[in-house]
Amino acid sequence: MKTTETISHEAGNPEAWICLCGNHPSGDGFFPCDAKGNEVDPVPSEWTTNAYVCHKCGRIIDQHTLAVIGQKAK
Ligand SMILES: [Zn+2]
Repeated sequence: MKTTETISHEAGNPEAWICLCGNHPSGDGFFPCDAKGNEVDPVPSEWTTNAYVCHKCGRIIDQHTLAVIGQKAK
């Protein structure tokens, strides 16, 4: 079983995510997504995962734990 990856964030700023690929919010950014990494509107009817997709590498990130929970198919 694969070790769970977790992204980091800037010191003192939990909102300033830094992906394992080096992406950050003022770079390519992160977008709300479904379980497959497809971008969705951040409304309760569409966004049921609380997950974000990295716009650079496609890693799917849990908003609360910052764990990488998937990878968008290229
Ligand atoms: Zn990334």
